[in-house]
Amino acid sequence: MSDLLLELLNTTPVVEGVQTELLDGRWMRDHAAGNQTVADARRLRDDLQRVVRGEVAPTVLASYLRGATRTPAVADDGITWTLNADWPARMVLAWGELQADMPGRLRPCANDECRLFLLDRSRSGTGRWCSMSECGNRMKARRHYSRARRNG
Ligand SMILES: [Zn+2]
Repeated sequence: MSDLLLELLNTTPVVEGVQTELLDGRWMRDHAAGNQTVADARRLRDDLQRVVRGEVAPTVLASYLRGATRTPAVADDGITWTLNADWPARMVLAWGELQADMPGRLRPCANDECRLFLLDRSRSGTGRWCSMSECGNRMKARRHYSRARRNG
């Protein structure tokens, strides 16, 4: 679920300097995003992006959980729980699980010209870029360039 959440967050990449929208009917079909409208899916995506960027309080996500329940059932070896939740609720629950299991590891890329997010699975927890080959090297090259200019 966390991979799907990251894919949802990363549906507004910057391509050649322009923020691009990838979340459409086809994306929703490809990702089994339920039968909500594209507009509703984009609103959920926008709210999740703002929460992960720290721009709004997570309480904006509360309405997506409405109607989600967990039902217990007795099995041979104890109790099993069944989650009853629609796609938006599952995305918010995936965010909640990451907050609990990997606090602070879901974050925006440190390149502020990039609109992507990363899930930092490194042991040190110091990952800053959506991708080292893209943003990481670009930002390092830029820092190096401005340092060289200052010193020159
Ligand atoms: Zn990036």
